[in-house]
Amino acid sequence: MASPSNVAPSDSPEARKYNKIRRRVGMSEFLLGLGLLVVLLLTGWTAWLRDLAWHAGSQSYAFALFIYVLILLAISKAVGLALDYYGFRLEHVYQLSNQKLRAWIWDEIKGLLVTAVLGAALVELLYLIIREFPEQWWLVAWIGFLGIAVLMAQLAPVVLFPIFYKFEPLHDEDLKLRLVRLGERAGTRIRGVYKWHLSEKSKKANAALTGLGATRRIILADTLLDNYSPDEIEAVLAHELGHHVHRHILKSIGVQAVVTFIGFWAANWTLHYAINRWHMFETLSDFANLPLLVLTFTVLSFVLMPALNGLSRFHERQADRYALANISGAGPFISSMNKLAEQNLAERTPSRWIEWWFHSHPAIARRVAAAEAWKKANAT
Ligand SMILES: [Zn+2]
Repeated sequence: MASPSNVAPSDSPEARKYNKIRRRVGMSEFLLGLGLLVVLLLTGWTAWLRDLAWHAGSQSYAFALFIYVLILLAISKAVGLALDYYGFRLEHVYQLSNQKLRAWIWDEIKGLLVTAVLGAALVELLYLIIREFPEQWWLVAWIGFLGIAVLMAQLAPVVLFPIFYKFEPLHDEDLKLRLVRLGERAGTRIRGVYKWHLSEKSKKANAALTGLGATRRIILADTLLDNYSPDEIEAVLAHELGHHVHRHILKSIGVQAVVTFIGFWAANWTLHYAINRWHMFETLSDFANLPLLVLTFTVLSFVLMPALNGLSRFHERQADRYALANISGAGPFISSMNKLAEQNLAERTPSRWIEWWFHSHPAIARRVAAAEAWKKANAT
């Protein structure tokens, strides 16, 4: 081993296998989605579905579009259902979940309904913009989606997440006091800390900073609160506070703004190409071109994945450094990392390129090594 001072516990074959399968499931889902879009476009089925929707929608554009979106969602759900179920079973095989099948099915139904409502609303808005501003639609749509992204970041913790999980304000006085002290040192105030009832669905532990403005809050999974020492929980809190102090949510929205700008520009270019060169569609407002729009964004986000994950890992390292500087000693941080790796069956040492492409967080071994180095540098 190259690391002389601290050799992290190596990954069990079980952890390796679990993560490998999960990556394959993720890749299969991605390829299946991509394949579906390509098939819809190349076979002309999208035009056939549009005609069907027009017929059923009694010639009303908005209603026909709504029906078309519902049909697309139903097809993509049907295509991906087997993989979704496999993912559910996988968590049970590796004893990472105690969710019952009925509860999982109910979650799937809720997820589908939320996607249908949000998806239909967004697509209706998009094609309204395309019809109203045929020349500058992509710019108008970009501004519109930016506003929606900010609104969704604000609403998510109070409207979206509670559809799937229960949250309650944290009652632990000791932890609350620790957080207030951390906040005072940072010269900031976190508006709330919430207990996230994750244990109904998973045995994994997690924590996050969510929301924007008045809804900004730290959420801590009960699976973490029940198994970690107050010092370890404080280390996790300090990490999440680090995200807040460095304004990572706002910065992520800023990055999203750049990505969606490129996305809408590319979508406009692709649609025009498909209309003028391939004669695939007659007009921009022909909603049979929706799969092509989605395809453009899918390809773009795949290409940008390493860059976006790289940025996310940079943010995580910043939050880690913030945590280390604001808690007493690196010990609890390191032990919380090791506990998380074990509880979540995470790979501590994924291969470099897998980390580079897929991981939004630095490998646990690297985070622990950084904390060890920090400890050494700050030992007086
Ligand atoms: Zn983080």
